[in-house]
Amino acid sequence: MDLGLRDKVALVAASSRGMGRACAHSLSAEGAKLVICARDGKKLRAAADEIAGDTNNQVLAIVADLTSARDCRQVVQETVEFFGGLHVLVTNNGGPPAGYFFDIDDNEWYRSVDLTLMSAIRLIRAAVPHMQEQSWGRIINITSVSVKEPLDDLILSTSLRAGVVGMARTLANQLAGDGITVNNVLPGYILTERVKELAQTRARAQGKSPDEVVDGLVELVPIGRIGKPEELAAVVAFLASEQASYVNGTSILVDGGRYKGLM
Ligand code: NAD
Repeated sequence: MDLGLRDKVALVAASSRGMGRACAHSLSAEGAKLVICARDGKKLRAAADEIAGDTNNQVLAIVADLTSARDCRQVVQETVEFFGGLHVLVTNNGGPPAGYFFDIDDNEWYRSVDLTLMSAIRLIRAAVPHMQEQSWGRIINITSVSVKEPLDDLILSTSLRAGVVGMARTLANQLAGDGITVNNVLPGYILTERVKELAQTRARAQGKSPDEVVDGLVELVPIGRIGKPEELAAVVAFLASEQASYVNGTSILVDGGRYKGLM
């Protein structure tokens, strides 16, 4: 299926590794002109070179710290200056630290608000006027299964991603008339460095090995394995496509059936 993304401009936030990078790769493979960003310039440029080499498409790498309002604005501005527009925005970020309610002090809450909620708000705020100009846009937020079912030791993620989904659902109503859709993808367990790090944290807390922790996660997933970043990226590429024109304001789980609720 041709997703109609050839020569569209796609910006994927937090994309030097993990799901962001996989989304970037899949959009570039579909022919989009791609912008990736993260804090570490060396890793970011290596990712950009690899993606461009694989897909034979242009990839612009912009070093940015998404907790900074200025950097969020700058990433969008440089994207538009370089490629002349912006069609697809995938918001994403590093995960906030794991912890229970009484583990987290005010500074960590504020830092995580900037990272998880404000980065999405700021990127979308900067991107929407460009999408409105061309009466076409796709905004896709990578959030988490935790917006359906709280994860006890991830109180920051659970609380702040609910804010992202609330903001996105409201915007989906307001931007649809401009040809812009807004949707969320909710990963369950996807095998990235982040999950390996979380497994190590839980292993220390529970006196287990990281492998035992990962095996415990797999037991919760009806499909019987952890997901691959490319499996999440395929859903994001579809949501970015022409074909997804009537999908708006929704939150799609990509979790192998991990969430057991009916809705
Ligand atoms: P990851 O840690 O593998 O990758 C995160 C990316 O974000 C990296 O490219 C990193 O450089 C970048 N980044 C981190 N902080 C940044 C900052 N301040 N500014 C710019 N870039 C920054 O993570 P992942 O597993 O791909 O997860 C992506 C997001 O999805 C995270 O928020 C994570 O909590 C969430 N999530 C992950 C899973 C999972 O199973 N992997 C499940 C649910 C939700």
